[in-house]
Amino acid sequence: MSYLNATAILEHALPHTSDTYWNQFDTVSKYNVHLNYFERLWMAWYAYIGNDVLATGIMSFMMHELVYFGRSLPWMIIDRIPYFNKYKIQNQKIPTAAEQWQCAKLVLISHFTVELPQIWLFHPMAQFFGLGTEVPFPPVYKMAYQIAIFFVLEDTWHYWMHRAFHWGPLYKAVHKIHHQYSAPFGLAAEYASPIEVMSLGFGTVGIPIVWCAITKDLHILTMYIWIVLRLFQAIDAHSGYEFPWSLHHFLPFWAGAEHHDVHHEKFIGNYSSSFRWWDYVLDTEAGAEASKRRREKKLAKARKAQ
Ligand SMILES: [Zn+2]
Ligand SMILES: [Zn+2]
Repeated sequence: MSYLNATAILEHALPHTSDTYWNQFDTVSKYNVHLNYFERLWMAWYAYIGNDVLATGIMSFMMHELVYFGRSLPWMIIDRIPYFNKYKIQNQKIPTAAEQWQCAKLVLISHFTVELPQIWLFHPMAQFFGLGTEVPFPPVYKMAYQIAIFFVLEDTWHYWMHRAFHWGPLYKAVHKIHHQYSAPFGLAAEYASPIEVMSLGFGTVGIPIVWCAITKDLHILTMYIWIVLRLFQAIDAHSGYEFPWSLHHFLPFWAGAEHHDVHHEKFIGNYSSSFRWWDYVLDTEAGAEASKRRREKKLAKARKAQ
């Protein structure tokens, strides 16, 4: 096959034009002066790729990798700085660089084998249920209340699924992998069996899609911001660090690292992800303080019975 033939075929096979991304951006900008800079970048990306499934797939996968490793990196650096040791919850257990590298390798393999196909399937599924990709973007208040609802629903899903995973046979078959680290660190957030990634992941990805199927009102950008925030939440909860300025000091129902670290240390209790209310109401809080409270309650009951 001649070189010319090959390029002709390639140009046919590749959906996007031979134009560069920034040329597309200039064209989009010229004809869409009413759009803001970010909206133009977004529109040019879809025009440049020329295939919505590919455009969303590439963007979603890159975003996930960037946020996951980008957010884990500061925690890895903090682990190497002795000053921060006093804020480490289980401060005798700083992960070594070798341990973190081992974990990163497994997480990467899982991202490429388990998560990539699912991320790829996301767009056709989203399209089927009517997720919007259009510009202009939805108003901020709408994105905010939808994300708040996703946080509450995901936390509920997480609580029950995670609690179920601690049932003996399921724990041995699935959840044990995630508990390999009794003193967690950021990178270990997605260190888990593929079955766990899929079933807990439903809370993050499936719930918004169900929401969209019912309300017919969800933009993919809202979904992206939600997933970025949820990734931050999961990585920070595994960081193993508790600071005087940690969010739960200001929002007492926010779980944070203090909540999930005890779960990894004690293996029982503190099953929810973002908030503390499920563990509080259903009396599954972990840690010395919670067991003391439980003991006192039992004693009071016993005294009453006498
Ligand atoms: Zn667990
Ligand atoms: Zn965990």
